[in-house]
Amino acid sequence: MTDLTEPGGKVRLHVDAPLGEGVRVVPDAGQSHYLLHVMRAKAGDAVSLFNGRDGEWRARVADITKRSCVFVCEAQIAKQSETPDIWLVFAPIKKTPADYVVQKATELGVRALQPVFTRRTIVTRINEDRMRANAIEAAEQSGRLTVPEIREAMTLEKLLAQWPRERRLMFCDEAGEAPSIAEALKNAPAGPWAILTGPEGGFDPAERESIRSRSFVVPVSLGERILRADTAVLAALSVWQALAGDWH
Ligand code: SAM
Repeated sequence: MTDLTEPGGKVRLHVDAPLGEGVRVVPDAGQSHYLLHVMRAKAGDAVSLFNGRDGEWRARVADITKRSCVFVCEAQIAKQSETPDIWLVFAPIKKTPADYVVQKATELGVRALQPVFTRRTIVTRINEDRMRANAIEAAEQSGRLTVPEIREAMTLEKLLAQWPRERRLMFCDEAGEAPSIAEALKNAPAGPWAILTGPEGGFDPAERESIRSRSFVVPVSLGERILRADTAVLAALSVWQALAGDWH
């Protein structure tokens, strides 16, 4: 069995079906097209499959027809594991940066992506299918064994009102009246976290006050310079992973 490889490494595919020794899995139409007509897969070639539950499995390509094929699971190559318990709560930004945010947040190991509408949010509609497609592709390329949950977008006020109290919400506040993220995470208590970033126009004063009034909120500064919203996401997630996540 030869591993099918693409520029980023061996072909890894996310499937919904259960995985186990000898289990036969039928790829979706997009995956079949990619394998047969882009990767020119042959019977006997190997791909890796994961479904977020059963770990990662090496599977053989079989029963090739003009339009489809079947995967036969041969061996488990990684036991199921989960990323650290961190969510990203982000005010949606224009299309391209939003794809970028989903892709990078998935690579950086978030467990869930929660779009939130704030007062200065320009974007009014979220394409959850597009977010999910971007998250799956980033999970496939980054070697993770799960795909982050795409949570339904809602207003900031509604989100804060129903926030799970045991989860700390790190509030990236560009107004500058907060300790540095490194300071705030020093001796960071274990347990679930989330990171909140604002839109292009930032948070308005009333919103800032409402956020800061919550017991589960931890305001942080990402330094003196004002970062673009997508940069702020990368910066905050990277520092969190280094100080409180699975990079330390
Ligand atoms: N227009 C806003 C302003 O000029 O104040 C900037 C908003 S910034 C483009 C988007 C979001 O990134 C902010 O709401 C905040 O969550 C985060 N952010 C950017 N720079 C930051 C900083 N230096 N400290 C904390 N958060 C920051």
